[in-house]
Amino acid sequence: PTDLNTLADEYLRLAYQNLRAKDDSFTADLRLNLDPSLGKVNVAAQDIGRVLLNLYNNAFYAVQEKQKLTHNGRGTNAYKPQIEVITHRENGRVELRVKDNGAGIPPEILSKIYQPFFTTKPTGQGTGLGLSLSYDIVTKGHGGEMIVDSQENTYTEFVVTLPTSNLL
Ligand code: ADP
Ligand code: MG
Repeated sequence: PTDLNTLADEYLRLAYQNLRAKDDSFTADLRLNLDPSLGKVNVAAQDIGRVLLNLYNNAFYAVQEKQKLTHNGRGTNAYKPQIEVITHRENGRVELRVKDNGAGIPPEILSKIYQPFFTTKPTGQGTGLGLSLSYDIVTKGHGGEMIVDSQENTYTEFVVTLPTSNLL
């Protein structure tokens, strides 16, 4: 039995701290909107933790990319990186949403992001395996669903849904 709210919260802080350890000038607005009625879910914490970490790391990368693009060269930047995590329980299903206001995903690559080794990141910065692995953990491993919604240069949102059979 896993407390997904605690997992979602702790991994978000962990990902943020890892980034800030490398660059302490980076700040982001972290928003947690956690459903208090979520309860415990019968999933392997390390598996869903890995999915969350992949989604968080991608989200942080995307907001950093956007931050570079919006920089005006005078040391000021009106853009404020934001990562939001939402948990929600309804009709015996649990939903985990990870949303960022970063670079977004161009429509022409949206259908490729779950392919193993597909990456748009420079060599050494991405393996292209994060989403492929996450998708398998959610769908094959837990009988769940994973969908994405994105608008280029505006936002990306991943929604992971875990089915009733995994609920305690
Ligand atoms: P990697 O992070 O190593 O590139 P992933 O499988 O995690 O591999 O992601 C594949 C690609 O999907 C990324 O290279 C990027 O182009 C796109 N992507 C994933 N998440 C986001 C996001 N939150 N915002 C923008 N692009 C994303
Ligand atoms: Mg990744």
